[in-house]
Amino acid sequence: MSRFIVIGGGAVGLNAAYQLARKKVGSVTLLEKGQVGDGSSSRAGGIITGLLWSETGVLARMISLRLYQELSADLEQYGYRFQDVGCLNLFDPESWPEREELLPLYDRLDFAYEILDAGQIRRRWPNLTPEDDLTGLHDALGGYSEPHEFVPALARRCRDLGVEIRENAPVSGLQIENGRVVGAQTGMGVLEADLVVCTVHAWTTAFMELCGVRLPIKSFVHQRYVSSKLQEYAAIPAINANPYGGYIRPARLGTTDYRILAGGETEDREEERVDDLAFHMSGLAAPQSLRRRLSENLAPLVPKLAATHWESEQVGLISFSLDGEPILGKLPQLPGLVVGAAFHSGGFAYSPVAGLLLAELAAEERPSVEISSFSPTRFAAEDSAAYLAETVVQADAFRRRH
Ligand SMILES: Cc1cc2nc3c(=O)[nH]c(=O)nc-3n(C[C@H](O)[C@H](O)[C@H](O)COP(=O)(O)OP(=O)(O)OC[C@H]3O[C@@H](n4cnc5c(N)ncnc54)[C@H](O)[C@@H]3O)c2cc1C
Repeated sequence: MSRFIVIGGGAVGLNAAYQLARKKVGSVTLLEKGQVGDGSSSRAGGIITGLLWSETGVLARMISLRLYQELSADLEQYGYRFQDVGCLNLFDPESWPEREELLPLYDRLDFAYEILDAGQIRRRWPNLTPEDDLTGLHDALGGYSEPHEFVPALARRCRDLGVEIRENAPVSGLQIENGRVVGAQTGMGVLEADLVVCTVHAWTTAFMELCGVRLPIKSFVHQRYVSSKLQEYAAIPAINANPYGGYIRPARLGTTDYRILAGGETEDREEERVDDLAFHMSGLAAPQSLRRRLSENLAPLVPKLAATHWESEQVGLISFSLDGEPILGKLPQLPGLVVGAAFHSGGFAYSPVAGLLLAELAAEERPSVEISSFSPTRFAAEDSAAYLAETVVQADAFRRRH
């Protein structure tokens, strides 16, 4: 039996551990430097759509959507359910042509979508009042997951499947012998493994530099808010509302405690450099002005917002690679290691398929999706160096959502 180590207890690492445990190909130990969910995963909006912009992305998300349905059944006893309210992607006249060009890709991959004008949107969801010139691209399979339900439920399921989850177990480096990764360095000494899966998100650049690998990834502060309690459930889909400068979806804290969740960028904010492995996201803060801006921007679309205020805030990081696509695969210079990172603002949506692909690679199986466009080896060393050397503001990084 092989020994697998997963580093990082976020949605991606937990899904990788879950898939490895289900394969029954060996023992699985997950090492998390703090508590499970300490990174972006517990802070996410949890919106999920399959309507991405690359063939690999769409194929991968199709699997994620299927896996979310399966997880919904498998994790029901642990209190998790995928919220299949659909995902509505909104476009203004300037942004629609770029998306319209992708429709033949969705047709070719047999991914169902619906194009709706503003009147059709208003009739289908009377709680929505979009501007007349907007176009909606509806993904009926999309929706959202509540991170505070999904992350602990998946951790419990992993434990029941035999995964050993060690919290407060920071990994200080990879153990490399004869050019191969053979374990993880921890405070308790070296933990040996046949294969290590690295899913440390915003910490990836700093962590990989310890063994001389430079991955071109940049992280940006991102924040989302949950409103005060609503009188009744807001029957709206999950909405990527770019023309309104944010995203918005229904939220639920208890069986009858209905709220709205919304989030958005801080365009002018410079990237956040995570140079220290001990970095923790609780040290991040969002500008106060963003709360009012989000309400003012989104209330014309969801009038119910006007009667609420933001009651809670979550601030975390989203990470972009040099070309905006995820980084997932093996590194030829470091056999024994598989890396998954840079899932842009859609790491929660990617997490089930990312976990599956990482587990397949770790188990030496053929991946369910052809992922050469996600390969960590696709970047030239000088391009990576130049990308890492410059400092950019969020508006200049990729702005595609979820
Ligand atoms: C406000 C906000 C809203 C978002 N909304 C959405 C959304 O609606 N939809 C969507 O799809 N995505 C969304 N995202 C993005 C999504 O949250 C992330 O892409 C995703 O959670 C990344 O998962 P992960 O497991 O890779 O990272 P993380 O959840 O950050 O997990 C990485 C873990 O690694 C641990 N770690 C780091 N270094 C070490 C080490 N040396 N040893 C051991 N452990 C270590 C960390 O403590 C952390 O727990 C949002 C993000 C934010 C911040």
